[in-house]
Amino acid sequence: MTEHDIDVLVVGAGPVGSTLAADLLRRGLRVRLVDKAPHAFEGSRAKGVQPRTQEVFEDLGVLAEAHAEGGMYPLMGIHLGPVTVPWRMQRRHQPTPDVPYPNILLLPQSRTDAILHGLLDRLGLRIEFGVALEGFEQDDDGVTATLSSGERIHSKYLVGADGGSSAVRKAAGLRFAGETDQSDRTLIVDATIDGLSRKRWHVWPGTGGKFVGACPLPHSDQFQLMIKLRPDETPEIDETALAARFRSATGLRLHDVTWTSVFRPNIRIVEHYRAGRVFVAGDAAHVHTPAGAQGLNTGVQDAYNLGWKLGQVIAGAPDSLLDSYEAERQPVAARVLGKSTELYAGLDERRLASLKRGDEERQLGLSYHGGPLAPAVGAATKTLRTGDRAPDAPCAGPGVERLFDVYKGPQFTLLAFGPNAIDSLPDLSWPTGGAEIHRYAIHAGQGSDADGLADTTGLIASSYGITGDTLILIRPDGYIASIVTADLIAAFDAGTEVFAAL
Ligand SMILES: Cc1cc2nc3c(=O)[nH]c(=O)nc-3n(C[C@H](O)[C@H](O)[C@H](O)COP(=O)(O)OP(=O)(O)OC[C@H]3O[C@@H](n4cnc5c(N)ncnc54)[C@H](O)[C@@H]3O)c2cc1C
Repeated sequence: MTEHDIDVLVVGAGPVGSTLAADLLRRGLRVRLVDKAPHAFEGSRAKGVQPRTQEVFEDLGVLAEAHAEGGMYPLMGIHLGPVTVPWRMQRRHQPTPDVPYPNILLLPQSRTDAILHGLLDRLGLRIEFGVALEGFEQDDDGVTATLSSGERIHSKYLVGADGGSSAVRKAAGLRFAGETDQSDRTLIVDATIDGLSRKRWHVWPGTGGKFVGACPLPHSDQFQLMIKLRPDETPEIDETALAARFRSATGLRLHDVTWTSVFRPNIRIVEHYRAGRVFVAGDAAHVHTPAGAQGLNTGVQDAYNLGWKLGQVIAGAPDSLLDSYEAERQPVAARVLGKSTELYAGLDERRLASLKRGDEERQLGLSYHGGPLAPAVGAATKTLRTGDRAPDAPCAGPGVERLFDVYKGPQFTLLAFGPNAIDSLPDLSWPTGGAEIHRYAIHAGQGSDADGLADTTGLIASSYGITGDTLILIRPDGYIASIVTADLIAAFDAGTEVFAAL
């Protein structure tokens, strides 16, 4: 056995690498995070944080900050000559006890990155900007990475969260299947626009789908502009040229440009998410069209899926747990790719229906049921199966008011319903290594004890579909790990073998 310098080297400090690094650090792992850029990304790029990602941010302790810095998406305003037609792109949902954050949050990517970087700072990690990964070698014992600084780092695992042109993916020889449409490009600009209402996401449809859009960015005087380019066009991106172009399309004055980018829709997915001890996540593993606001969100959830698995395997859980990362996340990305491509194609043909955002993009209904950690044949309750998202519900207990307060943190959570399940709690074995388990007896009504939670409204029992003695184990990433309704102790032990550490 060789000495490892660190447990995990994360390459890329975008939203995905930063989420992963934060999750690994709170598990007590030794982590380094390098990024080839000289400083954090400064543009608005991915500005939609979906409901499920907000739940991830709540678990990491940064949701309040994201909500304070973000805002609701405004209604669209479609400019048709002198008339502006209001258009609601997505239905606004009311919060419910099981879905506390039902609506997409408008938050420029630079702010999301800054919030995650602030978290890393509080966790004691200094991001190494200006340091690129140049290559790596791996063997059964670890990965030796070479950095642009000349340093070689020996780690147990390496994760490439280094974006669409991932150096990690290329060095690992992972094929990125799909296509790039070079003729279909959009110019993205962050700028100030005089005299334009901030209460609308403005769209000037243009002809042949060559639209111009301007979305107001919260708590600033800026808009994110999207200007569809002609196939053969090389756009001038200096401020004077942009301002002239915008004035001719809209009649409005644009100034103080702070970021520009030309976006080409890539639709690609990596053939494998793992090559030995090397993983890819986020845009390094899948790239989408921007429609549907899925790229950042799918990537953050890759990181959230991988983090606890790395922690468990480093603590001695079976290596096959790491194979479940690809098995669980690749189908999600494949489905998202199909969905965002469909939405984007609709936009191009100016079908307004494609501007409607449905439930799928909120990523709340996503389930890993039927995957390697949640076999389709397992026990179920009236409402939940293994692999489903564990819903929120009000509860009362020491320092907590909701189940999401209870789930917050890197641990597994075990809920016991019914007298036999509650009695079995102390006898259920759990390893000392890896993530802890927090055990809670759920009592109906107001009563609870020191280790218990009161189901004050009955909503825990109803949303978890409880009909009798039941143990429900929740994974650190908030999905149901196991449901046990009979032969409690033996069935619980058998159900934890795949992810329990030593
Ligand atoms: C116009 C536009 C609009 C979008 N809108 C949305 C949206 O509304 N919602 C949404 O969810 N997604 C959206 N996306 C997609 C979103 O921006 C990406 O999915 C997201 O940035 C991916 O995050 P990431 O961390 O995987 O990669 P990135 O954010 O690309 O970060 C990768 C990091 O790796 C670093 N890096 C690269 N190579 C190396 C190397 N060799 N060594 C070290 N570091 C390296 C880079 O400097 C970078 O900081 C949009 C994209 C575009 C272009």
